[in-house]
Amino acid sequence: MTINPKEKWFLGIDIGGQSFKIMACQDQVEKHSAFFTGPTAKHSFKDCITAIREKYDELREHGFKNQPSAIGVGFPGIVRSDGYIKECPNLAHWKGENLKVALEDALGAPVFIENDANCAALAEGYALRENLPHCLIFFAFGTGVGGGILFDGKVLHGRQGFGGEIGHISIESEGRLCNCGAKGCLETYFSTNGIHHTAQASGLFNEVPSVKDLFHGAIHGEQPAKSIVDQSIEYLATGLANICKIFDPDMIVLGGGLTQDQSGQYLIEQLHLHLPAKISFKSFELPSLKISQYQGRAGVLGTLVLAQQNG
Ligand SMILES: [Zn+2]
Repeated sequence: MTINPKEKWFLGIDIGGQSFKIMACQDQVEKHSAFFTGPTAKHSFKDCITAIREKYDELREHGFKNQPSAIGVGFPGIVRSDGYIKECPNLAHWKGENLKVALEDALGAPVFIENDANCAALAEGYALRENLPHCLIFFAFGTGVGGGILFDGKVLHGRQGFGGEIGHISIESEGRLCNCGAKGCLETYFSTNGIHHTAQASGLFNEVPSVKDLFHGAIHGEQPAKSIVDQSIEYLATGLANICKIFDPDMIVLGGGLTQDQSGQYLIEQLHLHLPAKISFKSFELPSLKISQYQGRAGVLGTLVLAQQNG
């Protein structure tokens, strides 16, 4: 990126379970600087803050002389808007720390924090720009299911930061045990782990193929892959129907590894087949179903969108 010293700039910090990335932008988030990365110190919150400070100093040597107007941070767990970390299975030692206070002390600029899936939702909203709908729901389907809900481009947090945890809506009251402790959460059925579980439990395979191969088989009409994938999509349709009846959203954006390449298109076709029957109201008009525009980059870009929204 070319830096205009007269324009303000924004910092994004994407904290993952294994590593963190920091980057800067000015007016357009897609035209951000190079990433400066380091390993996430899982066992020491303080060491990680120090490591982020070191990378921040390196980044500023590349022409970012002034302080950033705002810093956006993506975090892989439940965090309140005031920065208090409530829960994070990947960074269990960080529970109870205040990420906002620690980063503001270390970096000297205002910090705004969101759950990583909320950041990804912000990026998807940003991608739509003037066509941003009133209510946008974002799902990230990977080994688990992340989610974010935007109203007029702003994240719905709820009282304590659990707003948008739509991977954990229950679709089977006595269903599979989820990592969160509940039974029958959507992510135990429609995620790479969930679909793999369904394939294994079916007894239809001598050796259960990867979820990518199951989708490949389903797209080409091959059994038993198609029946496993379609059954999994039906579970997802149950979850989406619930979401539709709570929020009546304009748009649902589907992202994460399960929506890449041809799988995303197949998923949307199947949802159009299954969803109407799950939504009882005959006059209900389905929301627009879209595949993520930024895919794997959404969470990272969202930290910069968050900074821009607040700077
Ligand atoms: Zn759960």
